[in-house]
Amino acid sequence: MISVPAEALGMLDLMEDPLFPGLDPEDRVRSIRRSIDIGRACAAQHLGCDPEADLVRAGVVIRRIEDDTVRLDHASRIQAQIFYGPDACRVELHMAELLHKQEVLTTYGLDVDLDWVARLHLAHEFYHFLEFSGGRRTGDEVGPIRVRGFLRSRPRVLRSASEIAAHTFAETVTGSPIHPKLTDYLVLVSDGTMTEEEFAHLAATAQARVQEGTSHEDL
Ligand SMILES: [Zn+2]
Repeated sequence: MISVPAEALGMLDLMEDPLFPGLDPEDRVRSIRRSIDIGRACAAQHLGCDPEADLVRAGVVIRRIEDDTVRLDHASRIQAQIFYGPDACRVELHMAELLHKQEVLTTYGLDVDLDWVARLHLAHEFYHFLEFSGGRRTGDEVGPIRVRGFLRSRPRVLRSASEIAAHTFAETVTGSPIHPKLTDYLVLVSDGTMTEEEFAHLAATAQARVQEGTSHEDL
């Protein structure tokens, strides 16, 4: 099994953020650590929760889409998604994708069933719902960030902060033996979208960026 530290996996989320190129190395690491802390603190209040029951209790509609198939030729494949509405929110689970992920994780020696994979994704979306219903995005809490290259400086919110916190939340409340972000990469490697060497290289780049942004006082 490929092992990647949580901060490097957070860096992989941050590297997908449009604001990433303009961030100082220290700010990158600071925002990753803060996002992880926020996700963990939120999880501490919801340990042992049943994300599906809690979502339903809050009036969120959960829809399991059973009639689609896994499209290996599609660049971006959606496994789960939350839609915010003024009256009700909706979470959609793409069951073929989740079943596929379950099969991939099993080949990596993880003894997980489909319900477990669905629960991991529901916990992730539950975090987004908590952000939405609390009226506060994780990026707001991470605080203002300096972005080079923008003349008029206005507060900019890191979208990836939500993802990093949601992954941490899902991992913690479910007691997952594997970081959720890593499960996505195992699927990509298993599908041949990237080779194991390409992923190892990407993870090493992320880890090097964590090192680069870690100040000496932190060591
Ligand atoms: Zn998300």
